[in-house]
Amino acid sequence: MTFDPETATFLIAGPVRIHPRVLRAMSTSSLNHRGDYFHGVVREIRELLPVMFGTAGHQVVLSGSGTSGLEAMYSSLVPREGRVLVLANGNFGERSDQIVRRYSTNVTTVSAPWGRPIEPAAVRAELEKGDVRAVCVVHNETSVGLTNDLGAIAAEVRRAGSPMLLVDGISAVAGIPIQIREWGIDAIVGGSQKGLAAPAGLALVHLSDRAVAALHPGSFYLDLKAHLTPLEKNDTPWTPSVPLFLALREALLLLKEEGLEHRLAHTRRLAEATRAAVDGLGLELFPERAHASDTVTAIRNPAGLGDPEIRKVLEKEYNVLLQGGQGALTGKIFRIGHMGIADWPDLLVTFAALERILGRAGRLPTPGASVRAIVDHMP
Ligand code: PLP
Repeated sequence: MTFDPETATFLIAGPVRIHPRVLRAMSTSSLNHRGDYFHGVVREIRELLPVMFGTAGHQVVLSGSGTSGLEAMYSSLVPREGRVLVLANGNFGERSDQIVRRYSTNVTTVSAPWGRPIEPAAVRAELEKGDVRAVCVVHNETSVGLTNDLGAIAAEVRRAGSPMLLVDGISAVAGIPIQIREWGIDAIVGGSQKGLAAPAGLALVHLSDRAVAALHPGSFYLDLKAHLTPLEKNDTPWTPSVPLFLALREALLLLKEEGLEHRLAHTRRLAEATRAAVDGLGLELFPERAHASDTVTAIRNPAGLGDPEIRKVLEKEYNVLLQGGQGALTGKIFRIGHMGIADWPDLLVTFAALERILGRAGRLPTPGASVRAIVDHMP
């Protein structure tokens, strides 16, 4: 068997597999983005977005990948006066840090080693030094398969008088429970290609009332105010990615039919099964177990076996696609994305193939244990 993108078991950490209904929704001739039909599509998307965020609010769709949403959020909301805290414990935290530094000259980075969570106490210590006007945090650090304790961090932010709380939720939204209102999140960015299982290329931004009042111009193309105003008439400021908007509507409809609660519980169950199956293989999780992510599992490569021996063989012989490590973790870990519409057959095929690969290398302590672990977690 060789890799075939149309039939692959596709479990990278996003983009994720896309439902055929969503694929079909995109295959249409050009639409007039200023016409009634497309305005109807935007209206429906606006009505459906609360399903994804779990709450209503000011919600914007940007034509651009997740990073465009981050740039929009930071350029429109990072205060021009006072200190900004950026919390970083992985590749995406470091990316937020880079973006925020384009829009503020007074940034303090609170970091933790990759694989360890941001300690709420470390955030508190920086907040207590005073003059913090915004805190920027990645909820789910995709690069290391770790979920930061956003509830506890948000509590520290509220205790310090509630500076703006700006969240990269790209691999968390529609995958991990987020209490946007209860935690006092001012802005959160989701990506189309993760828990929602739409194609890559759209960023979804939720804003609180307070954030809307604080918006200021930063970037021209990604000025959130310039997007919010026409949205009241179901319009967009520039030519939107029409096929992606059609796909987004369908993916949101699918999520509504399934229910957000179900999607979150299913994602969690797949994650628990994956972690148990990793144990069954005799392999180690990369992040601290208590903080392991429910949307992406990061696993240390066993000594002596790297990407050529594991991921490349999975791809070439078994038509299974997993993801490698980023930056300093290249060749050291591999990652399994189990969000969106990922399901039990995906895990069964993946772990059966991993058993074969490790078994042939003489590195499988208990044959059958990982597949058994998946079966035991199935409903
Ligand atoms: N932030 C997080 C947490 C991510 O997982 C990703 C992508 O994987 C990004 C930011 C960047 O998003 P994009 O590649 O869609 O621009």
